[in-house]
Amino acid sequence: MSEKLYYRDSHIKDFSATVLDCVEAEGAWLVELDRTAFFPEGGGQYSDTGVIDGVSVSDVQEEGDTIWHKVAEPIEVGTIVECSINWPERFEKMQCHTGEHIISGIVHALYGYDNVGFHLGEDYVTLDFDGPLTREQLDKVEDIACAVIASNVPVETSFPEPAELAMMEYRSKLDLTENVRIVSIPGVDVCACCAPHVAYTGEVGMLKLLDCVKHKKGVRIFMTAGFRLLRDYRMRYTQTAQVSSMLAVPQAGIVEGVERLQKECADLSYQLKGVKIEKAMAELEKVQKDGENMVMFVDNWDYDVMVPVADKGKTMTQGIFALFSATGEGQYRYVIASETVDLRAKTREINQAINGKGGGSSNLIQGKACGEEEALRAVFH
Ligand SMILES: [Zn+2]
Repeated sequence: MSEKLYYRDSHIKDFSATVLDCVEAEGAWLVELDRTAFFPEGGGQYSDTGVIDGVSVSDVQEEGDTIWHKVAEPIEVGTIVECSINWPERFEKMQCHTGEHIISGIVHALYGYDNVGFHLGEDYVTLDFDGPLTREQLDKVEDIACAVIASNVPVETSFPEPAELAMMEYRSKLDLTENVRIVSIPGVDVCACCAPHVAYTGEVGMLKLLDCVKHKKGVRIFMTAGFRLLRDYRMRYTQTAQVSSMLAVPQAGIVEGVERLQKECADLSYQLKGVKIEKAMAELEKVQKDGENMVMFVDNWDYDVMVPVADKGKTMTQGIFALFSATGEGQYRYVIASETVDLRAKTREINQAINGKGGGSSNLIQGKACGEEEALRAVFH
């Protein structure tokens, strides 16, 4: 059984230990030490990483009373080894985990909801609560949490006696009565938790609640804290500054800037559609009648241009006006219109003749067709 140095002091980064056991497992080696500062996977977070005598530790798992450190090379039992944990990674996890307790304590006190899920991954942290929360409520929780961080109160840990534990009010209540580790932030939160925490709330630095989505009967909140928040802010700042410069508006005005751009785009595409229709109408004037019917072949026109042209085209013939727009080899969009022929009644017949699919009203049908131009022309000849 190894001594859990992370419970003695969560800020131990380097330590020496004696190798108690080393076993091969699936192409790697599992090492047990007489004492360790590596926190194993558990309590909603992934394991610490680091090195043992220069050999990297890729994973740490607790199995019963044993903590196994996964390494790539064997280390002889009895060796005294020098160990270091990846401190920036561990410290950031502690910033997020203590931040999570602060948030959960405040949400519980203000709204009575329980934290029913916690995930501390490499990319993001999520907290699940069993009730709904609005953005305004989250902002309020955030304000109080940041005041708790600024007040720099101690984060206390203890293993209360069963009798004392039975009297305590705390979150994440377990059925266990012995060896329950209690993490308290005075005035904010008391919770059963096995993970390492910062020593003072000030070490969290800052925290921010990001997206909030519906989850089961409550919400899932994405959160960031500490140095992770700094990197996140830096990414967002860079993006905001770039968009602001591209739009030539102040950073605080980028939403209005994008709205203006969207309106300009909509206006331009409306104008463009007008120009396209005007040009298409000029093409229509050149089309020759083919017996009773009129057939027109064009390239790459969209339905929003084809429909007004067909509407006009049908007034130029006593029969059917058929417009085909090529989209690929032998592939077409079609719009067929008529003032005299009931097209709805003939839809099936027409589609069969042009290898097509589509439909519409008695005056106008549209869809897709395939075949050679000559063959399609012949159908309407
Ligand atoms: Zn916890």
